[in-house]
Amino acid sequence: MPDVFADLVGQDEAVDTLRRAAAAASAVLRAAAVPSTTDAAGDGFDALAEESDGGQPTAAVDAGAGMTHAWIFTGPPGSGRSVAARAFAAALQCAYGTGCGECPGCHTTMTGTHADVRMVVPEGLSIGVNEMRALVLRAASTPSGGRWQVVVIEDADRLTEAAGNALLKAIEEPPPRTVFLLCAPSTHPDDISVTIRSRCRVVPLGQPAPEAVAEVLVRRDGVAPDVARWAAAAAQGHVGRARRLARDPEARKRREAVLAVPRRLTGVGAAFDAASALIEAAEAEAEASVAEADAAERAALETALGAGGTGRGAAGAMRGAAGQLKDLEKRQRSRATRAQRDALDRALVDLAGFYRDALTMALRAPVAPVHTDTAALAGAGAQKWDAEGALRRLEAVLECRAAIEANVKPRIAVEAMMLSLWKG
Ligand SMILES: [Zn+2]
Repeated sequence: MPDVFADLVGQDEAVDTLRRAAAAASAVLRAAAVPSTTDAAGDGFDALAEESDGGQPTAAVDAGAGMTHAWIFTGPPGSGRSVAARAFAAALQCAYGTGCGECPGCHTTMTGTHADVRMVVPEGLSIGVNEMRALVLRAASTPSGGRWQVVVIEDADRLTEAAGNALLKAIEEPPPRTVFLLCAPSTHPDDISVTIRSRCRVVPLGQPAPEAVAEVLVRRDGVAPDVARWAAAAAQGHVGRARRLARDPEARKRREAVLAVPRRLTGVGAAFDAASALIEAAEAEAEASVAEADAAERAALETALGAGGTGRGAAGAMRGAAGQLKDLEKRQRSRATRAQRDALDRALVDLAGFYRDALTMALRAPVAPVHTDTAALAGAGAQKWDAEGALRRLEAVLECRAAIEANVKPRIAVEAMMLSLWKG
């Protein structure tokens, strides 16, 4: 059986760092199990986070061995930030300290059922302060499995300022057995506050090479080699996206519809039509992705509230229930908005790939196209637009992504983009 780092594609350096840190963490635990008087002050952690938790009854390990209380995993979407964080969490809980993939610690962490590992996956547009406070409180408790309390925060760039401050306090004075693993696109101050950053060790992940992505699709998912190669290139280094393209016909159909956009832009009317089609496709995709969870949550809440009860007290209970249902609906709307934006962003990334292909062809750059199946169309575009025109179009797509990220209404941003794509 492969170990817990096996799915971290093309990130050898990061895996190396994490393996060493897990071994160091294990040594800290072993030292703690055998009380030692040789180093009463050291806790075996690197100086980065050491200042506030001196005096723990642990023995020292090599100070350069690389364990600390707070980590940030950075990298482009799909590079495997959360995969890396989860694998590291498993290695920390591993009975052998290696992330063997077989022991109960590894197994329960990887399947999401370990009692001392909490994965925070924001469903809405941000992670609020109440959620963070509750999390910090639980993270301070003694690990029930006797190893570490691990908190993984995916998309830590979506922390509200107040939530970030609550987290910072916990990172500044970490409980001795608590480890925070944050995931963010980068360490830019827009993504993560400078003060949090200064308390964390950074594990940068790169965009994995298409060959590495294709290899894992073949090995792990049983995808045919030629399909794997195509999907890995089309997904532009995004491992999860590559897997979906390789395995989900609906995802392939959506991608084809997006890549049909450039040849449909024949006039102003067509540009607006294309904008509508893109928005509506993203909405439909998002709706499909959250519908099941929405219905299940609502049913669970109604059951918990005893909906339909007629006994004494039912009227009062229903008044409270109305408030809870309202809260749930608010959370679900926030999640739906997020899902729509994510779907739209995937479409824009595909579209950007097309114009990038046109640009590289116009420049006669010796690089492989992103979308092999629309390479001929991109070649025709390259001839018609020249490098400059292709670049302007690529920039229009990237500007649209940035505008949506900055909260411009998606329809407005997409319409502006389609007009630029048509006019050039
Ligand atoms: Zn293990």
